[in-house]
Amino acid sequence: MTVLSLVSTALADAWALVAPVECAGCGAHDRALCSVCVAGLQSRLMHATLEVDGSSVPLVAALPYAGVARQSLLALKHEGRTELARPLAPVLLAAVTAVWHGSGAYALVPVPGSRAAAAQRGFGPVALIARRAGLAVTHALRPMAAGPAQKALRLEQRLATGSRRWRASPRVAGRRVVLVDDVVTSGATLRAATRALRAAGAEVAGCAAMAATMRRWGDSSIHWKFFADHDESHDDNERGED
Ligand SMILES: [Zn+2]
Repeated sequence: MTVLSLVSTALADAWALVAPVECAGCGAHDRALCSVCVAGLQSRLMHATLEVDGSSVPLVAALPYAGVARQSLLALKHEGRTELARPLAPVLLAAVTAVWHGSGAYALVPVPGSRAAAAQRGFGPVALIARRAGLAVTHALRPMAAGPAQKALRLEQRLATGSRRWRASPRVAGRRVVLVDDVVTSGATLRAATRALRAAGAEVAGCAAMAATMRRWGDSSIHWKFFADHDESHDDNERGED
């Protein structure tokens, strides 16, 4: 987080106080998120296991990526509505708390976006929301510029060498960390981040995501279960080849 982006974040927050604002959830002329839509951000914790190179990493998401959660995250990321970090903070906190408890982790590592996206936005959405939640994060992952050799790789090869996407700081060597991201879909991003951290000698104790897309088919499907309904068995027939 640079001084410039800190200033622009502060300015955006201040601007939201004086300018007419539409609710990111329903479009009503109200605050960044009206009280009805804020209620739609109530966490509904779900858990899964992320398989990374033969070992399992616990994964928790706070709610499905739909409705107000989806609209708020999109508005924050693509419209620069940084004031939404405040109502989204409890969502991130719920997921991180669930993973962190008993994990023995010493650092919370946000998954960075691409170099280009970060340069365009001037802020990292996950890091910004974590700060609003009062969480200290360790920026242990840096995006790597795609060199000519990597650009030449086909998509499958790039996915297979996912650890090349980021470089992890050597200061995490020998440490247990928890990864945090905004949205988990196939899990490919979290797997790549886990590989990069492992390559630097860190152990990934768990992954926390604010939201998860619920319907993915195929090899990379994540088998989600809500904490609240362990007794339901609706999901076996949706299971991918994992
Ligand atoms: Zn609303």
